[in-house]
Amino acid sequence: AKEKGRNQVQLFESGMNIRAVNLMKISGELHQALEKNQMELHYQPQFRLSDGKLIGVEALVRWNKPGAGLIYPGDFIPLAEQTGMILPLGQWILTTACRQLQRWLADGLGPLRMAINLSARQFRQPGLAQDIARLLGELKLDPRSIELEITESMLMEEMEMAVATMTSLNRLGVKLAIDDFGTGYSSLAYLKRFPIHRLKIDKSFIKDLARQAEDRAIVGSIITLAHSMKIAVIAEGIEDEYQLQQLSRQACDEGQGYLLARPMPVAEIEQLLRQDFHH
Ligand code: C2E
Ligand code: CA
Ligand code: CA
Ligand code: CA
Repeated sequence: AKEKGRNQVQLFESGMNIRAVNLMKISGELHQALEKNQMELHYQPQFRLSDGKLIGVEALVRWNKPGAGLIYPGDFIPLAEQTGMILPLGQWILTTACRQLQRWLADGLGPLRMAINLSARQFRQPGLAQDIARLLGELKLDPRSIELEITESMLMEEMEMAVATMTSLNRLGVKLAIDDFGTGYSSLAYLKRFPIHRLKIDKSFIKDLARQAEDRAIVGSIITLAHSMKIAVIAEGIEDEYQLQQLSRQACDEGQGYLLARPMPVAEIEQLLRQDFHH
């Protein structure tokens, strides 16, 4: 996409950078979307595999754009990341997810963990840990009930800063999970360097678990490695019974996926939580 952008620029006599103009337009739209309350969080349950108990939810953002319907994060998060709009958006996501958890817990719907995705820019933003500390303090939320999901690549660029950020987040008491584990080009050495509580095995390894002995071997190795380092494991993208059984057999701690529950809007997840926690 970057290459294409550059070519377009060369074609444009006035020197106006079309790509920049597009990004500005999108940035404005995202800004408006936030102001007009068009962003919403859906929540996908996470289950303990040993007994099937619902133990957490992952917050997943959607843009409810008038006339366009629900827009999925793959279609705007990368743009928000490029324009910098990810910072206010990410702040909104953090605040909204934490407030939601606080309300649920106050309502007796718990214990429950809230997993929140951090973007690369958010992770590199100075003061992230202080911002989160202030938010959790205001809400009187136990930091241990918050899990931040980051990707391997976010740890690999600017290592020193990443170590510092991870250390301050860990001191705060929030949990840290490595999302899409196994898809990055990173060394495993970072597992030793960073305070990590959970590995989230990427869904690409789960997809062909029944057909691919290699995937079963990879998944098994990730689980053994993680457990030997006292790191818990969650598998994402569980879509069928076989995958669920296989992961249980391989002693995977937790699971998430369409077979178990889809991401749901607030009203729906609340019904589920009520069934689970109020009898
Ligand atoms: P992710 O963090 O890896 O999220 C998992 C994605 O897999 C979600 O897509 C979820 O709806 C989908 N999924 C869940 N169960 C299954 C399943 O059984 N099978 C399959 N094939 N997919 C499943 P979604 O919501 O479209 O999000 C896509 C990506 O957008 C996320 O990937 C994450 O990287 C990003 N994203 C979503 N919400 C946020 C957010 O609040 N902040 C940031 N920075 N990124 C977000
Ligand atoms: Ca995630
Ligand atoms: Ca993931
Ligand atoms: Ca992903």
